[in-house]
Amino acid sequence: MYAGDRDLERAVAELATTLPEPLQPLAGVAFDYRWSWAVDGAATFAAIDPERWVRSGSNPRRLLTEAPRAALARAAANNELVGRVTRLAAELSADRARPCAAGTATAAHPVAFFCAEFAVHASLPIYAGGLGVLAGDILKEASDLALPMVGVGLLYRTGYFHQRIDTSGFQHEYWQDTDPERLPCVRVSGDDGQPLTVTVPVDNEEVAAQIWRVDVGRVPLYLLDTDLPRNSQVGRWITSRLYESNRAIRLAQYAVLGVGGVRALQALGIEPSVHHLNEGHPALAVFELLARAQARASGDEAWQRVREQIVFTTHTPVPAGNEAYSAGEIQPMLGRIADLAGGRDRLLSLGRIEPSRSEQPTGMTPIALRASRGAVAVSRRHGHVARAMWQPVFPGRSVDDVPIGHVTNGVHVPTWLRGPMRDLLDGHLGDGWLSRADQPATWEPVRSIPAAALWAARCAARRQLVELIGSRAIGDRLRRGEPLGYAEAIGGGFDADRLTIGFARRLAVYKRLHLVALLPERALALIAGERPVQFVFAGKAHPDDTEAKDVVRQVFALKHAPSVAGRAAFIEDYDLDLAARLVAGCDVWVNLPRPPNEASGTSGMKACLNGGLHLSVLDGWWAEAYDGSNGWAIGGEVDADAWSQDQRDAKVLFDLLQHEVVPMYHERDADGVPQRWVAMQRKSLMTNGPRFSATRMVREYAEQLYRRGATG
Ligand SMILES: *Cc1c(COP(=O)(O)O)cnc(C)c1O
Repeated sequence: MYAGDRDLERAVAELATTLPEPLQPLAGVAFDYRWSWAVDGAATFAAIDPERWVRSGSNPRRLLTEAPRAALARAAANNELVGRVTRLAAELSADRARPCAAGTATAAHPVAFFCAEFAVHASLPIYAGGLGVLAGDILKEASDLALPMVGVGLLYRTGYFHQRIDTSGFQHEYWQDTDPERLPCVRVSGDDGQPLTVTVPVDNEEVAAQIWRVDVGRVPLYLLDTDLPRNSQVGRWITSRLYESNRAIRLAQYAVLGVGGVRALQALGIEPSVHHLNEGHPALAVFELLARAQARASGDEAWQRVREQIVFTTHTPVPAGNEAYSAGEIQPMLGRIADLAGGRDRLLSLGRIEPSRSEQPTGMTPIALRASRGAVAVSRRHGHVARAMWQPVFPGRSVDDVPIGHVTNGVHVPTWLRGPMRDLLDGHLGDGWLSRADQPATWEPVRSIPAAALWAARCAARRQLVELIGSRAIGDRLRRGEPLGYAEAIGGGFDADRLTIGFARRLAVYKRLHLVALLPERALALIAGERPVQFVFAGKAHPDDTEAKDVVRQVFALKHAPSVAGRAAFIEDYDLDLAARLVAGCDVWVNLPRPPNEASGTSGMKACLNGGLHLSVLDGWWAEAYDGSNGWAIGGEVDADAWSQDQRDAKVLFDLLQHEVVPMYHERDADGVPQRWVAMQRKSLMTNGPRFSATRMVREYAEQLYRRGATG
């Protein structure tokens, strides 16, 4: 039904022929990431060869290709396992056989969702952080809701960087090559059997891109890749790294994603009902669409036709985060793209906040805002911030009338709800509850889950996390070159019963991890006190963000203080897999953004789903979620004096931890259950569960943006 079907069938058949007959249904399962959110998906692959599964990076295509014959034969002879394989394959084909949901988008005219990064699974390393996680969750949820959608992105050959920290807390980066032939994806070929390519004018080159297809359930994700021998060395490099530091290359990436993406859809025979630009990176799609509209209509009419086809989500609430480029940077890289539709001045001015001020730089966000029929921010508060920030793009409108609405982010529940809490909720919320995850009534039975059961699930999840931290942290420390005693301290130090506090996210300065190190005596008192807590940290700083990297060093400076070696751990190389384990196991999830810089944030939503409690600045999603009884809050007012705000917020953070969180955790009844804590968990699950599910989010997108006639 979609381009690449034949290529997929061929790849699946090829893989199947290498497998013993009873395991052959797994070949099809391996080429669709739907397995990753099927209840028994990962466990079934792992059961074939547990060690190889880990070694393959949980990549089923690699597992099935690389597992020794003996392991495959053993699995094929295991009736119980073969039964699971059969059920898994049947579940996936039944999911595909469902009819499409009614709506403007149809199989023939799906939503085309454009994004610079997609976090679908740790084995597909084309993401950096929250933006990618959101995009991946949207594709998965669209699949679950049977909403016709295709994704459009880039296949980065070396992805985002991997992280190593040295003994002084300094971050080092390295990149690993990704071999698409070992990923569960296929190169899309045309009717002639040759790989399909499109070209994009960049600088003086017609850069060619081939197209890979990765299936995310019912949603095909098409990824453009310029690493072709016929391109120049520069042309080949364009899709090498996500968030490449070289600004000219970044512009070239935007050209390949936006212009190349629209051309790819055409080459694939896909006519979208709407193009959803997720963040500004794909905004150059506008010029390709405009060039086509101008072939059939002129001036204003062509522009209106383009606007009918575009909707936009803005993510970055600080002007500096919305990159802008000078005419001198844009002309060489994108000049010929501008010539496609209206000339160079038009591109430059469409991207200026005030089009006629030629000294202003050109950014992707103003282009996308002007060219879309509907635009949204990613939380209620971010909506206010975005309207004020972009008001100058809409002269004559008051801030409240700026046409930017909001669809608050949500998270894909089957991806993020793991382990003991998933089992518990499956047992209480009724059959098929996931498809009703956006309804408060679905979560009502949480009220009657026995406190002891909720607490037992929490303790089991914490125990799993503590085991993981033990092994990961020792490995990290040995690699770093720490003394053996220090490395091993984590083993005896981390305790499965101890209050566990997590802080893990992209290490941008505005996320303020440094608050933890700002009042060291208070942090150390918590760690080494009478009722000690343990901290787990993780996160990557962008390679060019020296200020953010310095924050890791500030935190590491505390490492020789008493008890720290055993009760605080920084786990390297934060990724989707580590994130899922951390949000599932931490008791308290801390978020300290400098308001109003957190557009939404999603990791706290994941923690809440798993029965963790959120302690956060009232910014992003928490500003609309916190009700006084479902977690803890730090004031969210904007303060121009960053230094005093930091001092104040650090104090509030430690006051909350010391006077509320720690005592509540230790206040136990005769059975050892912390009743007040469990009551807060219940509130958190029942209030946050339905509102911050991707089910609610994607339904809102369909209603507010994708529907014909909707304007955002
Ligand atoms: C959820 C997630 C994020 C987003 O985290 P925030 O703290 O909400 O910004 C970033 N990275 C990974 C790997 C995630 O899973």
